[in-house]
Amino acid sequence: VRPQTLMVQITQFGVDQKVMLVRDVTERKRVETMRQNFIADVSHELRTPLTVINGYLEMLQDMELPASLNKALGQMSSQGERMQSLVNDLIELSRLESANSDSAGDYFNLQHLAHSVIDQLQSYDHNTVSLQCEVDVEVQGFVDEMRTVLSNLLTNAYKYGGDGEVQLTIENAAHGVRVSVSDQGDGIAAEHLTRLTERFYRVDDSRESSVGGSGLGLAITKHALEHHGAQLEIESEIGKGSTFSFVIPAERVQPA
Ligand code: ADP
Repeated sequence: VRPQTLMVQITQFGVDQKVMLVRDVTERKRVETMRQNFIADVSHELRTPLTVINGYLEMLQDMELPASLNKALGQMSSQGERMQSLVNDLIELSRLESANSDSAGDYFNLQHLAHSVIDQLQSYDHNTVSLQCEVDVEVQGFVDEMRTVLSNLLTNAYKYGGDGEVQLTIENAAHGVRVSVSDQGDGIAAEHLTRLTERFYRVDDSRESSVGGSGLGLAITKHALEHHGAQLEIESEIGKGSTFSFVIPAERVQPA
């Protein structure tokens, strides 16, 4: 390894202890980059054939066919759509993982964005969200990514939150503006909390239930938030519900 490419991870065990662990992480980083590139390439390669297959399936569904064929076609096209959304999520995740943050993005109004996401979701499935905005701010960032974050958190609150109220709150916090999405669902056991943002991780109950999902939504959310200097925080109590929140740092926020 050439000296300039050697990357080390230094772990220091307390101030008064003399042990220092120096580990070469160059290889680990290289394998991780290879893995990311591989997933990005495969997802891109799958996109075109899938679009063609789904297009023809849609065309066939418009034709007069025997009932038995129609049933099979219906299943093929719903699985095709599922696959397409999985591939789109993988492409988005790869893009976020490798995005370089040279630019801090443009300003957008957070409250307007929240309204627009809520309107869009409600037009699909008639759920209601109670929106509480204590501050009206402009945020510097990437509006499409923030739209995805809000949409993922609200969709999850609907999917896993039972029939109780879903609340979206925008309020002042010590070092910026806090955005929280709360539901009154069954909650998530403590052992799962740290793993929820891993790719494809789903709590067993969700895997077994009929609730659709790939387990990529929170991984995408985590990376999109990191792009804004924010981190996803999850609090949950069994039987009471969950709150997913993040703080947009003050340097990215200005009054509207
Ligand atoms: P998906 O919803 O596609 O499975 P996500 O990455 O968005 O993937 O979420 C990962 C898992 O986290 C879900 O499968 C579910 O088990 C759990 N989860 C996410 N949000 C909630 C929530 N509001 N309440 C309970 N469980 C949740």
